[in-house]
Amino acid sequence: MVLAQLGGSISRALQQMSNATVIDEKVLNECLNEITRALLQSDVQFKLVRDMQTNIKKIVNLDDLAAGHNKRKIIQQAVFNELCKMLDPGKPSFTPKKGKTSVIMFVGLQGSGKTTTCTKYAYYHQKKGWKPALVCADTFRAGAFDQLKQNATKAKIPFYGSYMESDPVKIAEEGVERFKKENCDLIIVDTSGRHKQEAALFEEMRQVSEATKPDLVIFVMDSSIGQAAFDQAQAFKQSVAVGAVIVTKMDGHAKGGGALSAVAATKSPVIFIGIGEHMDEFEVFDVKPFVSRLLGMGDWSGFMDKIHEVVPMDQQPELLQKLSEGNFTLRIMYEQFQNLLKMGPISQVFSMLPGFSAELMPKGREKESQAKLKRYMTMMDSMTDEELDSSNPKLMNESRMMRVARGSGRRIQEVMEMMEEYKRLAKVWSKMKGLKIPKKGEMSALSRNMNA
Ligand code: GDP
Repeated sequence: MVLAQLGGSISRALQQMSNATVIDEKVLNECLNEITRALLQSDVQFKLVRDMQTNIKKIVNLDDLAAGHNKRKIIQQAVFNELCKMLDPGKPSFTPKKGKTSVIMFVGLQGSGKTTTCTKYAYYHQKKGWKPALVCADTFRAGAFDQLKQNATKAKIPFYGSYMESDPVKIAEEGVERFKKENCDLIIVDTSGRHKQEAALFEEMRQVSEATKPDLVIFVMDSSIGQAAFDQAQAFKQSVAVGAVIVTKMDGHAKGGGALSAVAATKSPVIFIGIGEHMDEFEVFDVKPFVSRLLGMGDWSGFMDKIHEVVPMDQQPELLQKLSEGNFTLRIMYEQFQNLLKMGPISQVFSMLPGFSAELMPKGREKESQAKLKRYMTMMDSMTDEELDSSNPKLMNESRMMRVARGSGRRIQEVMEMMEEYKRLAKVWSKMKGLKIPKKGEMSALSRNMNA
């Protein structure tokens, strides 16, 4: 994700400040200037950045902080809070309920990624046990129905559309009726886009909305427009009852941060972001975990959500129990790697883990990351049960490492490298110790604890 660059710059600025022996006005100013530069490069509106800087300075009044105060922590917390504030619209979105029919209408300009996003949204919910269906009411763009049909077929999601009918209102109405009868709980209506905002587009949206009475209208927009997202989001909001926004192409544009903050400024909640062309390159957008991940602090809620998705139900309590006891053994690391390899786009999963920033595991280097995990696992295959179940890294002395290297056909340096990785992860994961084991649906509480 391109945002990794922004996150990397902010984390580096904070790190440099932490490295300074004394934190005085000069060090704080340098840190804030670095952060300001990074945000402006991401096309965040100047006023928002300036406000953020003023607020941090107000909170972190160095003269007022007694010597005993942990200035670093206070500054970091202030930066975290201000970034969250910048992205928080202060208003939750309507959330559809599984098992109860909801009609969701998608609107946006042509090329914004609307059709792709409709399928991603349907697929995301289908994986969680919903019964989604897609209706193509885009009669303006030739090929829109074919595209939706193709995507829907691939994802095995029922769809409705017509090559003959040119009235989008009629198609939308018929499609919604049909899927209501079939007891679908998420009926997604894709509407036409235009090259630019114009009266005909808004009129058509209004008519489709009147005919289908959507529970939620989702506005889809491309992140490459940066802070211009403010005007676009405002214009759509004024014409239809936009209840939520999905920002696409966050993988390819340096202006993503600007787009997200601009949408928040219109008080519209961003609910998902698109991070690639593929069906599963789609993520829930939640401000705190997002900022936490941006700063390389991990996203526990996202990670736990993934664990619930891929780790077999019967193994979940055991894994979480072991983690909460704080015994991060090599065997747990092995099992984690096994799970990670199953979790799908590995750079996405890695970026959720504290200790692995998106910068360290960039998209496009997935094969390398996977090969590395597999190599580590081969080495661990040569370990004894005692070694795998010990949480004391000192047990792995030189002669044991030599044996593992020989057994797995790798070099001793590689075994040492794996042990270093293990120690680093064990340190990060030791934060899990003593935590209440979350059940499904309790993820955000865990995330709050972890990020505190
Ligand atoms: P529509 O005209 O708004 O329906 O847009 P489409 O769904 O046809 O998407 C336009 C282009 O954007 C297609 O090539 C999509 O593959 C691409 N696209 C959509 N979402 C994303 C995303 O999140 N990341 C990237 N890189 N491309 C995307």
